[in-house]
Amino acid sequence: MTLVSEQSGATHFIPLCVPEFRGNEWSYVKACLDTGWVSSVGSYVDRFEAAMAARIGARRAVATVNGTSALHVALRVAGVETDDEVVVSTLTFIAPANAVRYCGAWPVFMDAEPKFWQMDMAKLAAFLAEGCSFSGGVLRNRSTGRLVKALLPVHILGHPVDMDPLLELARRYQLAVVEDASEALGATYKGRPVGSHGDIAAFSFNGNKIITTGGGGMITTNNEAWANKAKYLTTQAKDDPLEYCHHEIGYNYRLTNLAAALGVAQLEELDEYVAVKRRIAQRYIEALGEVSGLTCMAEAPWAESTSWMFTVRLDAAVFGMSSRALLQHLQQQGIQTRPLWEPMHLSKSQTGAMAWQMGVADELYADCLSLPCSVGLTDIQQERVITALRAATKTDRKV
Ligand SMILES: *Cc1c(COP(=O)(O)O)cnc(C)c1O
Repeated sequence: MTLVSEQSGATHFIPLCVPEFRGNEWSYVKACLDTGWVSSVGSYVDRFEAAMAARIGARRAVATVNGTSALHVALRVAGVETDDEVVVSTLTFIAPANAVRYCGAWPVFMDAEPKFWQMDMAKLAAFLAEGCSFSGGVLRNRSTGRLVKALLPVHILGHPVDMDPLLELARRYQLAVVEDASEALGATYKGRPVGSHGDIAAFSFNGNKIITTGGGGMITTNNEAWANKAKYLTTQAKDDPLEYCHHEIGYNYRLTNLAAALGVAQLEELDEYVAVKRRIAQRYIEALGEVSGLTCMAEAPWAESTSWMFTVRLDAAVFGMSSRALLQHLQQQGIQTRPLWEPMHLSKSQTGAMAWQMGVADELYADCLSLPCSVGLTDIQQERVITALRAATKTDRKV
């Protein structure tokens, strides 16, 4: 009975996005166990850092226990302090907003643009010019009176933010640029890796990301002093290895050698995974392009997206069903989908933070749904998702 249903694929649950292990993961993790090097020091931590630096084209990389801690430390070394402000994409997973708060600083939330759903550069320029005053090399938010210190663009869903205008604004207003590249490892902006454009970048290797270490993160930067400071802060700010002297409050944000071993193996697969993800996206685009009331996520001419989390936008009135009704409808057929995140400016957790000219992010939050796109997604599974989606337009017309 099980065999028949497995073959037909009809009753099989299709998850949204799960990890894939098909390379050297077993052998590298076994090497850790065989040698006893399982904890926070070991050759795989060094190898993972070197491989990530090379991959991003950064001088240095510092491994961390997760992406959130990478962001926290990146902001600290970029000079963000208590009561400063950092401009953050409002349409994002919450980690970057929380990381700003860990510094005692405040996010200023920036809207998404409607084409590629990334931070809106026109609105950013307007905020810096009209919402702030700039004198003596210091940028001050006119409404809050706080100093604006950094820009934190989040490359969402595997697609890059339009970095050139952002970098131009950062130069003009002397702001640090901290890239949240957690969702876009392997993507390029104008031919260069995402994470190599700003002053410092953070990555995540959480289980749902394109490659995973179970949990893990990485900071990359060309700034040697910042990298040294990041290593120092992530390792309890130890100033004497023998005497355990500490001159500052540090953090235990180290990645284990065991996790790094997974990371080295996963990074070897990255190019292949990006190719697979892009093929999955292409197949969705070809099959769903004609469905009225449904738009697939688009790729900017200056971008090579990883299509990490393939997402569609619904016009509920035309499609005949809202994104949440479709989610329920597909769930009943064993197909997992997910809405985007509640925009940060609507989050109770971020009360007291300023938001600048919102609108687009709210609409995307209401309209979008991410579809199954694991690296291991089979053609048969994807056909099932496509068929179910096409059929949904004709079934219950519940908006
Ligand atoms: C996953 C993610 C992070 C980091 O998450 P961790 O679970 O702490 O590794 C940060 N920012 C964004 C946008 C993410 O999607």
